[in-house]
Amino acid sequence: MRGLYIQGTWVPSSSGEAVAVVNPATEEVLDQVPAGAADDVDRAVAAAREAFPAWSATPPADRGKVLELAAGLLRRRAEEIARVIATDSGAPLRMALRGQTLVPAGVLAEYARLAGERAAAEHRIGNSLVLREPVGVVGAITSWNYPLHQAVAKVAPALAAGCTVVLKPSEVAPLAAYALIDILHEAGLPAGVLNMVSGRGAIVGEAMAAHPGIDMISFTGSTVTGRRVAALAAPGVKRVTLELGGKSANIILPGADLAAAVHAGVADAFFHSGQTCSALTRMLVHRDRYDEAVAMAADAAAGYTLGDPFDPATRLGPLVSAAQRDRVVHYINRGHEEGARLIAGGGDRPLPRGYYVEPTVFAGVAPGMVIEQEEIFGPVLSLIPYTWTDEAVEIANGTPYGLSGAVWAASEQEAVAVARRLRTGQVSINGGRFNPSAPFGGYKQSGLGRELGEHGLEEYQETKSLQL
Ligand code: NDP
Repeated sequence: MRGLYIQGTWVPSSSGEAVAVVNPATEEVLDQVPAGAADDVDRAVAAAREAFPAWSATPPADRGKVLELAAGLLRRRAEEIARVIATDSGAPLRMALRGQTLVPAGVLAEYARLAGERAAAEHRIGNSLVLREPVGVVGAITSWNYPLHQAVAKVAPALAAGCTVVLKPSEVAPLAAYALIDILHEAGLPAGVLNMVSGRGAIVGEAMAAHPGIDMISFTGSTVTGRRVAALAAPGVKRVTLELGGKSANIILPGADLAAAVHAGVADAFFHSGQTCSALTRMLVHRDRYDEAVAMAADAAAGYTLGDPFDPATRLGPLVSAAQRDRVVHYINRGHEEGARLIAGGGDRPLPRGYYVEPTVFAGVAPGMVIEQEEIFGPVLSLIPYTWTDEAVEIANGTPYGLSGAVWAASEQEAVAVARRLRTGQVSINGGRFNPSAPFGGYKQSGLGRELGEHGLEEYQETKSLQL
């Protein structure tokens, strides 16, 4: 069995128990990680507290040098780490390499730069000198869908800011976090600055959220668990950032290039088998062009090849676990019950083994249906007709979520005017692509705070003013 990483070394958990890691494409157990216990969290927090004074006092540019070295090591090991991600999360290999390994390497490199340029930025306001200081010990809890990206999006800015960290990866896909620890260790991160306790959310995650020695919790996962984490953190008045779920709308206005908008929208909804918090799972199309869009979406969905994540022909891998597959199948059944019209996919177990679900498209989805309101986290796209732009905006804003969205229009100006009315943290304009330096996060029940770039760094900083 692997170990826990505490005080710069690999140690066993006091529980002596293991969590099995399963390959979702084969349903076989591929590894085991320790099921951490509350006293393991105590040890990790003690190590992080002990390391904090020296690390926070290390010149920011020197902290940045460790991150720069780590970025280089990650790039060098990218192929191997992408294979790990493809194996334990089921992401198609090409996507695991580009989106899930090289993007985090870029994020590490960016925080290497920001550590030097921004971490200690000070400015004057009248007779005051305003300082930026690290928050302290950070508890980072991540989920399984982008396991390396999410860990890097928390650990890199925290370390750049001068914080020390206890990381808990998801028990479902924990292996990429081990690779990150190896890399930062090799890059020369001092002992205790980063610690990792694997194991179950209900034990390790809760112990971290409530721990008096942790100053800030940075969480990625479901809205339900995010609420629980925030409640546990409240008595200690910890800073909390939450990256939660979404139900993002893709508004296609009448003058848009319909074929481009539908193809890009389908690709976004099915990316990583729909297991992306910002996935554009609701496509809103003007009634005049709705039938055309439905036919295009059905055609596009039929062109997706399900299969082995290591096969270059595969566009859709399995869902991450049997539980996730069952959850998605439950929502597909709800769609039928509510009277939505299945125009593509809908089947589960399309392959003899692995947690696969066919890429699925529902037409005739009405605002208020369960499949229109709740996050499914699988390859399920809903097409919703609208008549007026105001109505489209109302439907887009009509869920408890507010993570992302997209607008397609004849001109950028027209799309931006609609995007300004969406209550979400990010909006793609006419296919504008993900920018890993731009702030990422949610309005409403999609979260608190922002990750990535300068905004992500600031989450890990306190502000102090000295009156001179
Ligand atoms: P969870 O919210 O259950 O888990 C996210 C992280 O929190 C994991 O590390 C998990 O550990 C941990 N955790 C679980 N319970 C607790 C707890 N009581 N206290 C503290 N930490 C806890 O999400 P899942 O990974 O199970 O996914 C479920 C749903 O969440 C998905 O179907 C999707 O709707 C949504 N989701 C949203 C994501 C996003 O990026 N916005 C990402 C992933 C999921 P462990 O893995 O051990 O349970």
